[in-house]
Amino acid sequence: MSIKIGQKSYGDRIQDGLSNSFMRKAVSGAQGRFRSGRLKAAEELGDWEDWRTLGEEIRSHTMENLDYYLHQLSEQVENRGGTVFFAKTAEEANEYIQEIAKKKQAKKVVKSKSMVTEEIGLNKALEKSGCEVVESDLGEWILQLDEDPPSHIVTPALHKNKEQIRETFMKKKGYTGSDDPVELAAYAREQLRQDFLEADIGVTGCNFAVAESGAITLVTNEGNARMVTSLPDTQISVMGMERIVPTWEDLEVVVSLLTRAAVGQKLTSYITALTGTRLEDEVDGPEDFHLVIVDNGRSKILGTEFQSALHCIRCAACINACPVYRHVGGHSYGSIYPGPIGAVLTPLLDGYEDHKDLPYASTLCAACTEACPVKIPLHEHLIRHREIIVEREKMTTKAEKMMMMGFAKWASTPAAYKLSTKMARTTLKPWTKDEYIEKGPGPMKGWTEQRDFPAPSKERFRDWYRQREQRSDH
Ligand code: SF4
Repeated sequence: MSIKIGQKSYGDRIQDGLSNSFMRKAVSGAQGRFRSGRLKAAEELGDWEDWRTLGEEIRSHTMENLDYYLHQLSEQVENRGGTVFFAKTAEEANEYIQEIAKKKQAKKVVKSKSMVTEEIGLNKALEKSGCEVVESDLGEWILQLDEDPPSHIVTPALHKNKEQIRETFMKKKGYTGSDDPVELAAYAREQLRQDFLEADIGVTGCNFAVAESGAITLVTNEGNARMVTSLPDTQISVMGMERIVPTWEDLEVVVSLLTRAAVGQKLTSYITALTGTRLEDEVDGPEDFHLVIVDNGRSKILGTEFQSALHCIRCAACINACPVYRHVGGHSYGSIYPGPIGAVLTPLLDGYEDHKDLPYASTLCAACTEACPVKIPLHEHLIRHREIIVEREKMTTKAEKMMMMGFAKWASTPAAYKLSTKMARTTLKPWTKDEYIEKGPGPMKGWTEQRDFPAPSKERFRDWYRQREQRSDH
């Protein structure tokens, strides 16, 4: 897998999302729960806006001095017995990890959830080298068995219900139990325990690396990351180059923001910090530790107007607030990074060619910007993407160009504007029912196919205004 998921067109993906009523119900329910949890957890802190400002300052300072902190991090990791590899591309990262697997003659790799390994397609690369790869996060494990991509950053299997999960377990693992979530989870635990014991290599992502100490921290709820990092003798952590904070104090702030903004928790069940290799008097931990720091397009964003997109702490609060995501679901974005941050980040990392539609998957209501705990101006980035797509990349279709030119001409010709606003209500009457246009003609078709459009008002604003002026003259 890489950033791009599947080959379907944007329109087809949207249609799939809109026609999946189960997914839409699951997503809107989860969005509601996450959102109220986030608001409650933020309220408990008392000064949420101050925390957001602090979070923004930390992320912005780190990005401004990224070279310094990455250097400090790599020195600290090496001082503690680890090896650091800077991978410019996904291929370089995969080749390095394949090489380690080859040297260790690894047969089985267990993983703890990591977006960046999805981004670089690590599982496929390791499988090509003859390794069995097992995702150990419950949601990721279910998706792996079902050969399905994730649809959300923090709850990847949000789009599946317990009946579907039971079905997957039955088909792929010969499960014979019920669809009781407790029984399903117990079964997964039993299966994964064996994988942890057999694994030669553990692979994790990295929520944040702490530059001053060389520690890799993981924020999880299931404890699987601890099994991945304590049982296998070889451990590889893969991080996007921006997932770093300067100090432990900074970590405290960003983790507080992350857990609250993600699912409304004060803390997650586990916050794991891994620092280097196993010491002589320690009973567990890796003998061999590698940190792979992935660029894969990130350095191109540094120093540009989009730099703040790299501040993202992957909490998914923007996704949980997004009205578009609510209706179309994560798979519609065609990227492993869905929602507003996905629509901003994906074209930056993977180009406009395959992702030019994503910046339009937004109402620009700015709910995402308001929800973001590190104040990334997501809707402004989306507008800027649209400008670039039209003006620099010249990717708009002829029909759209003509329409926009027509609109500009009409809107700047007072007589045409006046006449059409006068005629609008009468002209649209055949399509109007109870003050809504249900199946509109021409350019309205796309909109009204999915939702109703309010009919033009009985009274035009300019008529209302004129009358009001006349009244006040008397
Ligand atoms: S953009 Fe902001 S709200 Fe969205 S995932 Fe990143 S940090 Fe969270």
